Amino acid sequence: MNQATYDLLTRICDKCGGRCCYYARPPLTEERISILLENGMTLDDVLFREHRMLDCKSTGFCVGFSEGRCRVQSVKPETCSAGPFTFDVRNGKLEIYLKKEGRCDLVTFLKGNPAVYDEQYGLAVEKIRHLVRSLPQEELDSVCRIEEPETEKIAEIPMSEVLSDDRGN
Ligand code: SF4
Repeated sequence: MNQATYDLLTRICDKCGGRCCYYARPPLTEERISILLENGMTLDDVLFREHRMLDCKSTGFCVGFSEGRCRVQSVKPETCSAGPFTFDVRNGKLEIYLKKEGRCDLVTFLKGNPAVYDEQYGLAVEKIRHLVRSLPQEELDSVCRIEEPETEKIAEIPMSEVLSDDRGN
């Protein structure tokens, strides 16, 4: 993605006020925790539950959300990079979902700009594939129990294909 497009997407996100960072609790792999610790976060920022995730502040916003934006933007968790695409694993398939337009201003922009849509979709699928491959099965199961309302399914990828190679990080 070129810098101008990246800056445009960032501006759209900045204007929204961080709706996707409100009670976001993005899941974390071992690798992502290490990266976040190297980039200013501490273990106090991580919740260790059925799966590992970033905690929220008392305001409800993610511990990574500061002054209206993500303070770990360049190393943020996979599900944050994948937005507004999200996922589930069901019946041996990785299902890719897109948030409904009313939930995220990026969706409206992407739907009006097919080339950027394709680029962000490709990035999202790479990030999600890597996450799905990296999480222990019980943690992946826990992540997949989280409801994702107001989304529409846009693709399915056989898990055999997802597990056969790793093209994202
Ligand atoms: S890590 Fe950053 S992008 Fe992800 S939920 Fe937290 S503040 Fe938002």
